[in-house]
Amino acid sequence: MSVEHHQSPEVLGDAAAPARTGSDELVIRVEKLHCAGSGVCVSVAGRDLALGPDGRAMALHATTTASEELFEAADMCPTEAIRVHRVATGELVAPLE
Ligand code: SF4
Repeated sequence: MSVEHHQSPEVLGDAAAPARTGSDELVIRVEKLHCAGSGVCVSVAGRDLALGPDGRAMALHATTTASEELFEAADMCPTEAIRVHRVATGELVAPLE
């Protein structure tokens, strides 16, 4: 008889959490060539993202600050077109990989 071991989702969540806290300046980059123009990210994070005249997502501000909506938008983009980096260090904050 074998016993299966599964890594707890809470452990993974805790490991990822520190990068997503604080009020540091963040910059959003949208890879236009990867963006499918679905607008899903805009409906989630309208404070930070909009669809541009070309039908692709774009950042509304040169820099922004952390919000659950922004991280959710980056995480749920089906083509991983959204990248959120910490300005000071260049660290990738979202999507989680
Ligand atoms: S969710 Fe991704 S593919 Fe859809 S509009 Fe936003 S950036 Fe583009």
